[in-house]
Amino acid sequence: LLAADGSIAPTIFAEMSALAMRTGAINLGQGFPDEDGPAEVLEAARQAIADGVNQYPPGPGMPVLREAIAAHQRRWYGIELDAASEVLVTAGATEALAATLLAFVDTGDEVVTFEPYYDAYAAIIARAGGVHRTVPLHWTREPRAGEPGAGSSAGWRPDHDELRAAVTDRTRVILVNSPHNPTGAVLDTETLALIVELADRHDALIVTDEVYEHLVFGAAHTPIATLPGARERTISISSGGKTFSTTGWKVGWITAPAPLVTAVLAVKQYLTYVNGAPFQPAIATGLGLPDAFFTDAAATLAAKRDLLAAGLETAGFALSLPRAGYFVIADAAPLGFADGAELCRALPGLAGVVGVPVTAFVHPDRQGDYASLVRFAFCKRHEVLEEASARLARLS
Ligand code: PMP
Ligand code: GLN
Repeated sequence: LLAADGSIAPTIFAEMSALAMRTGAINLGQGFPDEDGPAEVLEAARQAIADGVNQYPPGPGMPVLREAIAAHQRRWYGIELDAASEVLVTAGATEALAATLLAFVDTGDEVVTFEPYYDAYAAIIARAGGVHRTVPLHWTREPRAGEPGAGSSAGWRPDHDELRAAVTDRTRVILVNSPHNPTGAVLDTETLALIVELADRHDALIVTDEVYEHLVFGAAHTPIATLPGARERTISISSGGKTFSTTGWKVGWITAPAPLVTAVLAVKQYLTYVNGAPFQPAIATGLGLPDAFFTDAAATLAAKRDLLAAGLETAGFALSLPRAGYFVIADAAPLGFADGAELCRALPGLAGVVGVPVTAFVHPDRQGDYASLVRFAFCKRHEVLEEASARLARLS
């Protein structure tokens, strides 16, 4: 976390957004939408401010939001939650992750994640004194139409034997992220069931980061908490940022059995205590929007994915279509770029576009396998994606 001179190294997102600002390049690095979310949600925040919802909310979150989170889990997943004891509002999914891992991981405890992984995981596990074990996601390139296997099992997947080998009695937490950042993978039910089986066998907790739960392009999201035997050992994390295009509001939450919520709250109360009073009822409004809002948002994003993916392929990158989320991973090797980090530093000059090297999501010892891969965000307006595609075409 510290640079060689003792200064704090900025996250890859801060570094790449600064590069975009400095060069005027199109920022497809940090994942945030460039359009506002639903008008009702924005208006609800304005109204809450006007109504004086501007002081500390209750520690576990405002009842209106906790009830909306419980109602959302019931409506979409059939999960019944007691809003008073099984729901906790946090300062984004980031604080939910930090408070949860700090609550349950002691020095030397192992935390298993897939790799690549969202960069905050490694930092928080290290702060908690934990040992980070990873299970690689293996990439099979999308076969072209007519090639053997077309339309089948392309994408990023874990090997079940490698997953089995990583989970042991030293494992305190299996930290799942599906839909997954940065790959856009959605874990299949067999993998989720294996995670539950392993957690049960080794008495580990499951912490599941589902911030992209509604940004899925195809089969609906399956929360791991809905699998048999999972609920009592699972802490589910989500956030309003992605679903409602309000990443700057930092309203997230955990849902879990009451004793686990109590343990996380014990940590959370001394991290931020509370956050985002007027945004809490606004996110509650969002969670109550009709089904069509959620399905339309995913369809809109899928069209953006297709647009950027086509642009990247025309430019000469190799990729497979992500099944969810904000990002597509593109392999620059076919263009003759072996080092994605170097390419990302040069890309504003070469093409006026910013991306993020996938090595930022990988342990320093294992960068080789991911060296030529770049993550691009497609949660941007069509004209921005078209312009980025046209610029990237200059690379070939
Ligand atoms: N987890 C994942 C997988 C993410 O991609 C992000 C943000 N992009 C977060 C957590 C953080 O969410 P929040 O902004 O709500 O803290
Ligand atoms: N989660 C977003 C991403 O992956 C941004 C997170 C951040 O800026 N820390 O790009």
